[in-house]
Amino acid sequence: MYDVIIIGGGIAAHTAAIYTSRANLKVLVISASMPLDQLTMTTLVENYPGFSEGVMGPELVLECKKQAQKFGAKYETKFVNSITKSKKSFQIITKEKKYASKTVIICTGASPRLLNIPGEKKYFGKGVSTCATCDAALFKNKSVVIIGGGDTAMEYTLMLSKFTKDITIIHRKNKFRASKAMQDKVLKLENKVKIKWNSVVKEVVGKDNFVNSIKIEDVNKNGKSKISCEGIFLAIGHNPNTESFKNIVQLDSQKYIKTDNSTKTSIPGIFAAGDCQDTKYWQAVTAAATGCMSALEAEKYISDL
Ligand code: NDP
Repeated sequence: MYDVIIIGGGIAAHTAAIYTSRANLKVLVISASMPLDQLTMTTLVENYPGFSEGVMGPELVLECKKQAQKFGAKYETKFVNSITKSKKSFQIITKEKKYASKTVIICTGASPRLLNIPGEKKYFGKGVSTCATCDAALFKNKSVVIIGGGDTAMEYTLMLSKFTKDITIIHRKNKFRASKAMQDKVLKLENKVKIKWNSVVKEVVGKDNFVNSIKIEDVNKNGKSKISCEGIFLAIGHNPNTESFKNIVQLDSQKYIKTDNSTKTSIPGIFAAGDCQDTKYWQAVTAAATGCMSALEAEKYISDL
């Protein structure tokens, strides 16, 4: 019987593990076979407090894991299929094994949506990005394309406009879904930002191992064109990784785990932290912060038992 089982392998999970294991609890972190958390997929992180020269995303995650292991947290690599509840504990079910724990912290993150078009995977990290906060500075004086019409696309446009030469937003409809306030800010940047309405992206094209253009098509099949660009930012939403938990905790309409403002889910004893419950911020520092909160809540829950 563990005191805390943490599911996930990103910075929220490691932070929860640091706090709970340092509190002398018996802690197991279970994560899927490949570290695919968003920080591990990033290169230089320049906005994590404490690193004036920036820190590489994978290094930051690994250091947090080492810190948790130093305090005694154990790690296992398994994919969790579901959680069940009995009177005094939770059962965490993987294909190979079942585990029992007094509390569970879910930190399984969210994956940015991809278009699944030719060239997208090949040039991912070589011009194609899903995170303007992480990568905007790499596109100084370059031409970039942003795909999407929601608040994220608007936010990426505002952020990237401080660095880039020009921006083309490609949106599949003739109006944005983003809030009016965000749209208005973007529309004011008319000297720098062009908008291609009613257009879908068909292919990412590159040369010498880097993106150099994108092929688009009018949704009404009124014509195809090619836009030269050195960067492509996908802002078409995120999918939280919560499929395994839908039968135990409440999810919202977008499948994010519903939490109160202290990481408690609809089931007492199960907490959620990081991007699987965050519909707004998606930052490393906010994921770490909710990881910490969930650990303190789990500790309190155990002492109240
Ligand atoms: P959204 O789901 O709001 O928007 C996604 C956009 O991508 C939509 O315009 C959608 O088009 C488009 N899209 C989705 N799939 C595809 C596809 N396959 N091909 C082309 N286009 C596609 O996601 P966001 O990430 O923008 O926002 C998520 C949530 O976070 C929202 O609630 C938002 O308000 C919030 N948020 C708030 C911010 C703030 O307040 N500062 C900043 C960022 C996000 P369509 O419109 O046709 O459906």
